[in-house]
Amino acid sequence: MRKHKIVIVGSGPAGYTAAIYAARANLEPLLFEGFFSGPAGGQLMTTTDVENYPGFPEGIAGPELMDLMRRQAARFGTTILTEDVTSVNLKTYPFIVEAKSGQVEAEALIIATGATAKRLEIPGCGDKEFWQKGVTACAVCDGAMPIFRGKDLYVIGGGDTAMEEALFLTKFGSKVFIVHRRDEFRASKIMGDRAIKHPKIEVLWSHVVSKVEGDQVVRSVTVQDLKTGKETKRDAAGVFFAIGHQPNTSFLGSQLEFAQNGYLKVVAGTSRTSVEGVFAAGDVQDPSYRQAVSAAGSGCMAALDAERWLAARESVHA
Ligand SMILES: Cc1cc2nc3c(=O)[nH]c(=O)nc-3n(C[C@H](O)[C@H](O)[C@H](O)COP(=O)(O)OP(=O)(O)OC[C@H]3O[C@@H](n4cnc5c(N)ncnc54)[C@H](O)[C@@H]3O)c2cc1C
Repeated sequence: MRKHKIVIVGSGPAGYTAAIYAARANLEPLLFEGFFSGPAGGQLMTTTDVENYPGFPEGIAGPELMDLMRRQAARFGTTILTEDVTSVNLKTYPFIVEAKSGQVEAEALIIATGATAKRLEIPGCGDKEFWQKGVTACAVCDGAMPIFRGKDLYVIGGGDTAMEEALFLTKFGSKVFIVHRRDEFRASKIMGDRAIKHPKIEVLWSHVVSKVEGDQVVRSVTVQDLKTGKETKRDAAGVFFAIGHQPNTSFLGSQLEFAQNGYLKVVAGTSRTSVEGVFAAGDVQDPSYRQAVSAAGSGCMAALDAERWLAARESVHA
């Protein structure tokens, strides 16, 4: 079985950045960029313009940005496999990483598998319909787009994230409707109150969005009152899912500690997980920011933490 100093699982901004740093430190990283788990390159492969990644004043297409990161990682000697990691064994050392093509040993492991935004199967919201043409799952990423400015926007959800997204969107939309299937929020009282009191926000309690329609972009939503069954079609330019994310961690089993919300637990201010020698970076450990630049930053942290951990271990075992 081939042994590697560093194995990185995941290929978004976190994984590629970790690879750039590890490769430049001569650690010859092996990176599994995924296959069935999602597009290699991560979430930004599914978006058009990224306007908030520093260094690109005119913005850059998501796939182009990820191709540049991949090439930068490869240039310094990262071996990239277009495969999913199916399981890991962290109870043995070196760790064993299993993929379809076989097993490899890892002296240090970086988990950078991201998190997937939860979506509802509403007619009109699918990938081949209005997803990314007015339907999105990230207000911070997309809210400032011209198609949303001065228009009515709809946020689906009732937790803190939905309140944050709705409040953020008040900067751009003429009015923001929070569509919530229950008649009270799951959000903390303080966040719920802030949203309810905001003059540009209206809550549609006990409602769901039942259909999204448009032409090139979203033009309307149909909302249904769950108490009366009545459906109403309304003008709309944007639908924002804010119903949570699912960190991509199933291949880890229960070998690492998770926070209650399913995100990987790291020691605050570091990328260290509950198992020594295993580090986590990007959205998989970040319920709070979930941005490309913060993912890239934490990829850098994970590579430096791993490098230092390996060096300390080698000096003890020398
Ligand atoms: C539509 C959309 C638009 C966005 N726009 C912006 C924006 O404009 N600006 C911004 O800053 N952020 C934006 N974001 C958020 C940003 O994309 C994420 O914060 C960022 O990509 C997280 O990076 P990551 O490296 O943690 O993980 P991801 O980008 O999620 O990448 C994780 C990778 O790991 C792979 N993987 C998962 N499991 C396995 C496995 N078992 N084996 C191997 N590989 C695996 C996946 O296939 C994926 O390629 C957007 C997100 C979406 C969905």
